[in-house]
Amino acid sequence: MNYKKYFPVEEYYRRVVIPLNPNRFHYGSGDKMVCPLHDDHDPSLGVIESKSGEVCHCFGCGAWCDVVDLHMRVSKIYKKRYLDRDEARKDLCNIFHVKLEELPEEGDSDGKATDERREDLIVENMSKFDISDFRYRVLDGKLKKKKIGYFNALMMSMIWESKSQ
Ligand SMILES: [Zn+2]
Repeated sequence: MNYKKYFPVEEYYRRVVIPLNPNRFHYGSGDKMVCPLHDDHDPSLGVIESKSGEVCHCFGCGAWCDVVDLHMRVSKIYKKRYLDRDEARKDLCNIFHVKLEELPEEGDSDGKATDERREDLIVENMSKFDISDFRYRVLDGKLKKKKIGYFNALMMSMIWESKSQ
């Protein structure tokens, strides 16, 4: 389901992530945010719009998740709370002052962040990112010995961006 109406990611970041460490967490250029899911220094977490809602995507650690999943991961890392999706949804309702009864039930595909193809969505949203994001990811990919598919997707995105300039 599309959570944007209830729990927009940027607002989640403002209400939950920044207060965890205001010196570290902030917005950068192009609405990117310092990622709370890895040891990020340059903002590399972006929000991608898909048909099924907002997807958070980090160019640093490769995170790919919706707001519920993001809250589960943040709670685990910073509060040592291991929430399931239902508990995370309840939490988000409290944070955003939404009544749980007003929140639609999740469907089978929820929790997978999106069924649409990740690379297609990244390419569609490339205007939000710049070449320096790729440089970081290419180096990181080499470091982590990523498979060729990882670099192919990066290449595709970079070519797409150079064409659009
Ligand atoms: Zn990250």
